[in-house]
Amino acid sequence: MLQYTVYADLNCPFCYALHEQLHQFGLLQQVDWRLVEHAPDIAIFNKTAESQAELASEVFVVRSRVPNIEVALPKARSDSHFASLCVIEAAEHDVEKSIHLRRLLYRALWFEGKDIADVSVIYDCLMEAGLPTELDIEEPQENKLIEWQIAWEQGDFNLRIPVICADDGRISLGLPSPEDLKAFFKGKEIDSQDQHRESCPRAEQQTIAIYCDHSIEIVWPVIAILRNDYNILLPANLTELKNLLQEDAPDLLLLGTENQWSDMFALCEEVNKNKDEFPLPIAFLSQQVEDQLELDAYQAGAADFLALNRSPAVIQSRIKILMQLKQSQDQLARSARVDGLTQVNNRREFERNIETEWRRAQRSKRNLSLIMLDIDHFKPFNDGYGHLAGDGCLRTIAQTIKASIQRAQDMVCRYGGEEFAVILPETDIDGAQLIAERIRSAVADLKIEHKFSSSGDTATVSAGVASINPSKGGSPHELIELADQALYQSKENGRNKVTLS
Ligand code: GH3
Ligand code: MG
Ligand code: MG
Repeated sequence: MLQYTVYADLNCPFCYALHEQLHQFGLLQQVDWRLVEHAPDIAIFNKTAESQAELASEVFVVRSRVPNIEVALPKARSDSHFASLCVIEAAEHDVEKSIHLRRLLYRALWFEGKDIADVSVIYDCLMEAGLPTELDIEEPQENKLIEWQIAWEQGDFNLRIPVICADDGRISLGLPSPEDLKAFFKGKEIDSQDQHRESCPRAEQQTIAIYCDHSIEIVWPVIAILRNDYNILLPANLTELKNLLQEDAPDLLLLGTENQWSDMFALCEEVNKNKDEFPLPIAFLSQQVEDQLELDAYQAGAADFLALNRSPAVIQSRIKILMQLKQSQDQLARSARVDGLTQVNNRREFERNIETEWRRAQRSKRNLSLIMLDIDHFKPFNDGYGHLAGDGCLRTIAQTIKASIQRAQDMVCRYGGEEFAVILPETDIDGAQLIAERIRSAVADLKIEHKFSSSGDTATVSAGVASINPSKGGSPHELIELADQALYQSKENGRNKVTLS
């Protein structure tokens, strides 16, 4: 009798670690292990620098969370689709052997660093598990995978893996510590709302906005075919479209018109002009096919011109290429802004933002505040525990700082080695002090062991807070200088303190 259901992907190191733990505890037989895909486009993107950095940091977290489980860093995250189908089919032959196959596949990727999308790797695993090497993979296996995927996506799991569901309704999200895992299988409730629990989010689905100034029926076949793979937005008029572009830009804009070509070209130019950092590709959908129209569209900045008399499958393929390009561009833009180790904004973003916010505050005549933070006695932490542990500590503290701020316009940056800056627009000194204090205590509450510190036995941060009303003069440099001096005071006064300038 099965008592637990797990949703997991073969290409997720947290899921691998969970699988290994359950194997060690002899609990795998109690689990209905359902394979899902949390990174559907992985076959295309797994070699980008961004996704490799993400992989490295996940492996790092697994190593520190469950040190007794060995995990290697593969060259890339494999596409798990075919391997998952093989596991499903193997269960038809022999359930025990299919569990063994699943473990062999997990270990091939996460212990030996092999690519489990490679048929010869799957073949070796099938052999070793004592299963037939010629499996019939057809519709029923695909359907099972889809059924599990839908159950996971519609479940209340925040689109994260791994998830363990007990028959009595208890749920565990993310990778539990070995103690928590044992407790969960003994019927205890564990804190599944723990935001810091390690897990993998589902890669977000891309969004396409379609705007036509004629009846939508003409493009309906295209919408029908795109709906499976993308979120589709259909703004009813120009105002709605513009709001949408401002609030939550889609990944692709499809424009359709019959007679108002010049209006549409103007719209295309306007959208292109306003999107410098994250360019939004625009493609035209047209029943008319004329070279001059198509050339004019490119002139206006369109990325493609799709003729509606082609089969929807052709249009779908071309749109797929546009979406892949968009995703690579976004990833590049993101990696230029975000610090790889801590996943908060980098120094360049700090410089850019403090200037922008300074000018904005000059106009709004509101205060701009800045918190400078520095980890206390971090050099002895590195010297005592090693750089790898130091990096882990930095990541955890960075994420804690991020979790301590609430407003969308607030910004956390890595200022230098173990120094962080928090920019708080439209915030006076009292508000900034409150947030600095919240960060200080949140870090202290982490209770990260630091027996090499000379001011306590856990890792702490010191903060300096400054606030200026830029409409009355001063400069961003001055603001930084003031916060820095206040930080120095916190250090002087014994560390783990907040000081106002
Ligand atoms: P204080 O309380 O006065 O701030 O003492 P401290 O030891 O933190 O000060 P100091 O500025 O001398 O040390 C900063 C140390 O931070 C130096 C280095 O060992 C560590 N560090 C800086 N960047 C990184 C990083 O990217 N990774 C790791 N692991 N350590 C870093
Ligand atoms: Mg420092
Ligand atoms: Mg320091």
